[in-house]
Amino acid sequence: MKICFASHNQNKVREIAALSPKGIEIVGLVDLDIHEDIEETGSTLEENSKIKARYVYDKHKIPVFADDSGLEVNALNGDPGVITARYAGPERDNLKNIELLLKNLEGFKDKTAQFRTVITLIKDGKEMQFEGIAVGEIQDELKGTNGFGYDPIFVPKGFDRTFAEMDPEEKNKLSHRAKAFQKLLSYLGEING
Ligand code: IMP
Repeated sequence: MKICFASHNQNKVREIAALSPKGIEIVGLVDLDIHEDIEETGSTLEENSKIKARYVYDKHKIPVFADDSGLEVNALNGDPGVITARYAGPERDNLKNIELLLKNLEGFKDKTAQFRTVITLIKDGKEMQFEGIAVGEIQDELKGTNGFGYDPIFVPKGFDRTFAEMDPEEKNKLSHRAKAFQKLLSYLGEING
């Protein structure tokens, strides 16, 4: 079975392809000659991952999945959520995003938050969603240089180090994205096995 991962990031595509069950070939948007940006116009992670998967499915009619992730901070009623990447503006500047988040969290005692990934799979016209969550806390000081995005201020529950202080293997065991992809891959293994 050939299945598309609706991402332009070939590194992400290859990483998942390497983990895919036997008999499943994962290709990226670049492999399907889709180079245009798919606009994420939804107001939830569920909607945005669905919009990306639907776009590819309607065009190519092949099985497809798409992911969307965000950081949800409890004291901020789940913000930045769907706009996590663009919290401080369209330039998607990680440092500015972190600074704005810390400013908006000033004065709150509750710093709990979660990263959440939603994957939408469309196969034979049917949609399914898979979710992965990593709970933790936002800390005021940036620590660590690994990872990306909000990693320097996110401490996963049960740990005293940020995601940015962990090596990729350790983060991968805990991360929202890894959990959502594990669910997807085990489902694909089941239906293909
Ligand atoms: P995307 O949907 O995977 O592109 O994630 C949207 C945004 O959420 C990213 O641009 C990051 O700012 C943030 N984000 C998602 N996953 C992570 C993570 O594992 N660590 C830190 N930030 C993340």
